[in-house]
Amino acid sequence: MSKPTEPTNPSRAAPVHAAMPQFPTTAGELQVNGMALSRLADRVGQTPFYAYDRSLLRARVGELRAALPAGIELHYAMKANPMPALVGLMAGLVDGIDVASAGELKVALDSGAAPQDISFAGPGKRDSELRQALAAGVLINLESMREVDILGAAAQASGQAARVAIRVNPDFELKGSGMKMGGGPKQFGIDVEDVPQMFSRIAAAGLQFEGFHLFAGSQNLRAEAICEAQAKSYELALRLAEQAPAPVRFLNLGGGFGIPYFPGEERLALAPIADNLAALQARAGRELPQAKLVIELGRYLVGEAGLYVTRIVDRKLSRGQVYLVTDGGLNHHLSASGNFGQVVRKNYPVAIGNRMDTLASERASAVGPLCTPLDLLADRMWLPRAEVGDLVVVYQSGAYGASASPQAFLGHAAVVEVLV
Ligand SMILES: *Cc1c(COP(=O)(O)O)cnc(C)c1O
Repeated sequence: MSKPTEPTNPSRAAPVHAAMPQFPTTAGELQVNGMALSRLADRVGQTPFYAYDRSLLRARVGELRAALPAGIELHYAMKANPMPALVGLMAGLVDGIDVASAGELKVALDSGAAPQDISFAGPGKRDSELRQALAAGVLINLESMREVDILGAAAQASGQAARVAIRVNPDFELKGSGMKMGGGPKQFGIDVEDVPQMFSRIAAAGLQFEGFHLFAGSQNLRAEAICEAQAKSYELALRLAEQAPAPVRFLNLGGGFGIPYFPGEERLALAPIADNLAALQARAGRELPQAKLVIELGRYLVGEAGLYVTRIVDRKLSRGQVYLVTDGGLNHHLSASGNFGQVVRKNYPVAIGNRMDTLASERASAVGPLCTPLDLLADRMWLPRAEVGDLVVVYQSGAYGASASPQAFLGHAAVVEVLV
């Protein structure tokens, strides 16, 4: 039955597809918020597309709220997924939206988020972006002395109060993070040693100081590392608060909560983080009584609720290796191809979404249509035998997908995004 050219799975014990249980299966079809994937593809009218499941987004925020102490504010960092409909949904679920450009600011304001619940960070805010943020009335996380000066002048000219926090580049890192964004020399924030100088500048410019923003890193699955970074961030803010021009009312302790992408990765344990935040909250009640504590999360809120769906346009055999050539790849989903921050390429979880009940029987590579060997969605994975027309699904695709991919590369049509 198995030709030597098409190797057979030696352990045919279980379908590989059981891997990502957040999307259930009915009659062999993966279900997105109750709709069978093939029908959803018909509804969308094209492949490839991204589908984000509303029920999973709601459930994730609900689980997090249930696990964390009441009163800890939850912000959505919309760079993870800026699709306007999704940001609109998130705006109704979380306590604030964090933006990093004037473009994101527009989406956040359009979503209905209140300006007082929006904060704006980013290392290269242009003069025009600072003026837009000022006019909008959002909290601006200052990251340079230049920003203080521009904002001071703009606030004076417009008569509008500029609400600011200082984004601090701490003197520590978030250990074991996929991407480190604090500690050592960084383009983000103000080095902690320069913060006192910035206090004077803020006071002189007449800006309204509200607090601190610390963000040490991203994609971390180790609760103890996150707890340590949160505790150090709190200590640092407490130390700085003594010299601040006004009481701290806003303390963003960062995020970094990761999601499992690869085999062997363990889900982040929330209980230790909840205990740690409860302890910090109790301290803040005494030591920084006006401060609200905020955490900002991107991929943790949305990453697992999204799928990338692409259709097989060709099935090829090259010297014993099966290639499922799909109608989309790296151009829409750079992260899954392994070219967005990974050091060693690993496969995202992948399934054949319309053959969920079929056992994995062959090792196949799913590749996109681009003329580059980098365009790889699944490298020699055990999958059910799949044919032209079948749907290749990439899980864990709700964050850093469409907006983080080079869509113009090779001139294929843009991907469609749907909220289901
Ligand atoms: C990228 C970023 C986030 C979101 O990171 P995730 O890994 O998606 O949670 C949050 N805050 C800041 C300042 C960021 O730059």
